Amino acid sequence: MGLLSSGTPLDWTETKKNSWNIRNSGIEQFIRIYKKFKNSCNYPFKWGDEIEFTLVRFDHDQKKVQLLLKAEQLLEKLKDSNIAFFHPEYASYMVESTPIEPFSFDLNTFKYLEDNMDLRRKTIEALLDQNEHVIFLTSFPLLGCDEFTYPSYKPSSNKHISSSIFYPDEIIFNGHPRFRTLSRNIRERKNKNVSIYVPIFKDKNTLSPFVEKLPCPESPECQNLAIEDHVYLDATGFGMGCSCLQATFQAESIEEAKHLYDQLLPLTPILLALSASSPIWRGYLCDIDCRWNVISASVDDRTDEELGHLPLKKDKYRVYKSRYDSVDSFLSEPGQLYNDIELVKDTEFYEKLIKNKVDKILAEHVSHLFIRDPIAIFKEKLTSDDDQDVDSFENIQSTNWQSMRFKPPPIRDNAEKIGWRVEFRPVELQFTSFENSAFCAFVILLTHAIKQFDLNFLIPISKIDENMERAQKRNACLEQKFYFRKNVFEQEDLIAKQKTCELVELSIDEIINGNDEFKGLSEILFDYLCMIENIEAFALCKLKQYIKLISSRANGTLMTPASYMRKFVKDHPKYLHDSVVDNEVNYDLIWHIYLITNRKIEMINSLNVLLVIVIAASLGSSKTIAGKEQDDDYSEESEINSK
Ligand code: ADP
Ligand code: MG
Ligand code: MG
Ligand code: MG
Ligand code: MG
Ligand code: MG
Repeated sequence: MGLLSSGTPLDWTETKKNSWNIRNSGIEQFIRIYKKFKNSCNYPFKWGDEIEFTLVRFDHDQKKVQLLLKAEQLLEKLKDSNIAFFHPEYASYMVESTPIEPFSFDLNTFKYLEDNMDLRRKTIEALLDQNEHVIFLTSFPLLGCDEFTYPSYKPSSNKHISSSIFYPDEIIFNGHPRFRTLSRNIRERKNKNVSIYVPIFKDKNTLSPFVEKLPCPESPECQNLAIEDHVYLDATGFGMGCSCLQATFQAESIEEAKHLYDQLLPLTPILLALSASSPIWRGYLCDIDCRWNVISASVDDRTDEELGHLPLKKDKYRVYKSRYDSVDSFLSEPGQLYNDIELVKDTEFYEKLIKNKVDKILAEHVSHLFIRDPIAIFKEKLTSDDDQDVDSFENIQSTNWQSMRFKPPPIRDNAEKIGWRVEFRPVELQFTSFENSAFCAFVILLTHAIKQFDLNFLIPISKIDENMERAQKRNACLEQKFYFRKNVFEQEDLIAKQKTCELVELSIDEIINGNDEFKGLSEILFDYLCMIENIEAFALCKLKQYIKLISSRANGTLMTPASYMRKFVKDHPKYLHDSVVDNEVNYDLIWHIYLITNRKIEMINSLNVLLVIVIAASLGSSKTIAGKEQDDDYSEESEINSK
C-alpha cells in the first residue's frame, strides 16, 4: 500500500525546511528503481482491488445512525488475519481491505470476487457489537452534522488539526500519525482552512437564494464564508473521509504499463459517472453525484501565489490543479500527441532525471509529481542511507492522488517479483459486492480487450479534464455527453507524428451500448469473452452479468446509487422538499442500504429480473445466484417493519 511508515511527525515549518531533501532523495530513489527495472519484462498479469469499508451504528429507538469510530480497535484484531489485508484509512470509521494475494489473469477467478469482498466485510462485521455494521458507502450523508459519529465530539475551530466549525479532530484515525499530520500541514501550508463549496440541489421548497447559517461561535465574521446556493465544507475530512473502489494491475513491462495507463485514462470520467454514489453533503441534497471535486478541494494545499491570486514571490510555480485531481499527462509515445495542458515541472529534478538517463516522458511525469511539497514527514525518516529505501519517493507519489497512478516496482528484495503496475482510481463504491465486482471486472476486461483488439481511446488531456467535470453533475450518467474518439480501432501515425483522433460527443449509453457508428464497449467486451477458451460456465455467467449491469446503468434501466439515493430521499414521507436530509431520513436511507448490501432486499427496478435473464441465457438455471433463495423470502415492507 501507499506510504504508511511511521515515526515522530514534523510540524509544517520543519517539513517545509526538509522538503527539498526529501524530494531530492525521492528522485534518487526513483532513479535507482528505474535503472534496476526499466528493462524487466514478462511479468504475469495480476490484479487486486481495494475497498474502503464504512462502520456504522444504528440506534433503532431514536431512529438515528452514526459513523462508528472503532477502526483502531478493529485493526488491532485484524492485523494477523489470514483472510485479507486490512489497512487504516483517513477516519476511524473506515477500514481499507485488499485480498490476501492478487488475482491472476485467469478469468475463472471472477467466480470468487464477490464472495471474497463479502468475506472481507463479514470478517470486520464479526468483530462488532449488536447494531453495529459494515457497509459500502462513498460518503456519509450527514458527515459534518451534529453528533454524526459514535462516540460524538464537538468540533472546535481553535484546535490545531482541522480547525473546522463542523469536523471534530477526534474522528481522524489516531493509530497512525500520517492522517492527522497531513490534515494539519495542508491547512498550515495553505495558511488557511481548505474550503469546499458544493452546489445545492434546488427542490421546490428550498429557499432561494439558499444561504447557510453557519455555526460560528467564536468569530461572527466566519458567516461570510457562506456562499449563495452552496453548501460550505471546511475540513480535509470531508473529502479524505470518503471511500472508494480502486483496482491495481500489473503489466508485462514498463512499456505496457504506460500504454495501459494511457488507454484507461480517457475512461476514468465514464466510469466515475457510471458509479456515481455521493449526492448528499452535510445533510443537504446537492447538485453533484460524485465525490471527486470535494476530495480535490479538501486536500488542496496550494498557496495564493500558486493559485495565481498573488504574484509569485515565495513560491516557485503557478500550480494548476490540486494534489488530488485528474492525470495531467499521457506516458506512452502516441499519448504525447494528446498532452495539451501545461505540465509544470521541477526543472532541477527534471534535469537530474534526464542526466541519469530516465526517459524523457517519465522524467516529465515524475518531476511534475515532485513540484509538491511532502506534507507528512517523520523525523526518523530524515536520515536514511539505505539504498533499498523508497520512502521518500513514496512520500510524494502517494500524496499525488490522481485519477490513475503509475506504480513502479518496490525495490527492496522484490522477492515476490512485483513489476510495473497501474492503478485505476475514479470508481465510487456501490452498495453490493455484486456491483463492486462488476466495476472491477469491467476495468480488468477492458485492459484485456485493449491489448487483444489494439483499441485506442486517446483524446486530448484537456478534454478528459472537461469530461471529469461533466461526470460529476447530477444524473450525468444519463444526461451528459462526453468527448470520445470517433474511431477506437485506429492507431496514431507515429512516423508522421499525426493525430488521428476525430472527436465526437457521446452519451454514456452510446459509449457503452453503441450507436450506428460505434459498437460500444459492452459489445467489445462480449466479443473478447467469446474468444476466451477454458472459461467455466459459472465464471462466464458472472462476467456477462457484470457487463450487463454496466450496460443497464448506461441505458437507464438501472439507476446509479446516486440517483437511487435521491429518489429514496424524495419519496420519503418526512422529506419536506427543501433539500434537507435529516436524521430520520438518513437513518432510513442507511438502513435501506444496509439491507441491500446484505441482500435482504433488492434495489427497486433492480437486478432480479436482469439476473434471471442473463442466467437463463448462459446456464438455463437460476440456482447460481448467491443468496438468491434468501432474497425471495424478504420483501421491503416486512424487513423495514421488523428492524
Ligand atoms: P495502494 O494503497 O498503494 O494503492 P494497496 O497495497 O493497498 O495499494 O493495494 C493494491 C492492490 O494491488 C491490492 O489489491 C493488491 O492485492 C494488489 N497487488 C499486490 N501485488 C500486486 C501485483 N504484483 N500486481 C498487481 N496487483 C497487485
Ligand atoms: Mg491501499
Ligand atoms: Mg492508499
Ligand atoms: Mg485507501
Ligand atoms: Mg490504492
Ligand atoms: Mg479538476
